[in-house]
Amino acid sequence: MILVMRRSATPEQVQAAVDRIQALGCQAHLSAGEERTIIGVIGDRRQLDEGVFDLLEGVEQVVRILKPYKLAGRDFHPLDTVVPLREDAIGGHPVVIIAGPCVVESRAQILETAWAVKEAGASVLRGGAYKPRTSPYSFQGLGEEGLELLAEASAVTGMALVTEVMAPEQVPLVSACADVLQVGTRNMQNYNLLHAVGEAGKPVLLKRGMMSTMEELLMSAEYVLSHNNPHVILCERGIRTFETYTRNTLDLSAIPVLKQLTHLPIVVDPSHAAGNWEWVTPLSMAAVAAGADGLLIEVHPHPDQALSDGPQSLRPDHFAQLVTRVRAVAQAVGRDL
Ligand code: PEP
Ligand code: MN
Repeated sequence: MILVMRRSATPEQVQAAVDRIQALGCQAHLSAGEERTIIGVIGDRRQLDEGVFDLLEGVEQVVRILKPYKLAGRDFHPLDTVVPLREDAIGGHPVVIIAGPCVVESRAQILETAWAVKEAGASVLRGGAYKPRTSPYSFQGLGEEGLELLAEASAVTGMALVTEVMAPEQVPLVSACADVLQVGTRNMQNYNLLHAVGEAGKPVLLKRGMMSTMEELLMSAEYVLSHNNPHVILCERGIRTFETYTRNTLDLSAIPVLKQLTHLPIVVDPSHAAGNWEWVTPLSMAAVAAGADGLLIEVHPHPDQALSDGPQSLRPDHFAQLVTRVRAVAQAVGRDL
């Protein structure tokens, strides 16, 4: 970090800044130019509230050089992280498709969907047992029974399982059957939950908060990584903008930007971004073209009867078409499914 002093800064103010830096356990490297003085701050600043430097008299600007997300950033970890998932992995050469219903509704529904998405080319099953619904009157998921049904569908199809965990106390139960713990958009900054999933040691699929910046997403990933859990998968699922035709705005730019900033794999959820199944295939193709490591797609055998997110859910035949088109794009950009 560098402190740029004002032109009018007095020698006393410069010395006070140096004293403050040293009192905080860091070293100060002074460079006195003709116009102004700049001070380099060297040392471990992880526990430091960097805002204190903005308040020092005579300081014009505080320039942060290193990223605050030390574990998620590429500065100290240049190589891509590959998250292992049974026979598959996310973050390697193949693009991985995660698919399934928004919510588990019944044994028949989850088994039918699991077999259908597997046959079409998905390798990971998704489905919610604990659902963070906007309205308390909406179907909240089958809870423990839903987890048992997901475990059965995952066992019979051999697909790895991703499912959401909403609270720290659910982590042991969900970890017992899921291969990947999903943290939803509404919980991206639920720090108690992030600590709990970090400690669980299972891979975590961390969805970007609908109003969160990429840096905030990476800082949330940092919570999980700080528990020595290296397996975080980031998920772009659309953010809030002024546009109302789509449920959210899929931030495609997050893919190349995050790829540059972090070594963590990035999957894209076009279903919750679009809010309408007809836009899910083109957005999926665009995401893979832009470098996404995977897709998270909602599929339901009868979207008109779905208890959650029917309008954005693809029928299995449409999902199979999506896979065909996405495979062509993956191959065009030197990857495969
Ligand atoms: C989901 O994946 O089912 C879900 C609720 O997504 P989000 O947290 O992105 O809304
Ligand atoms: Mn959903």
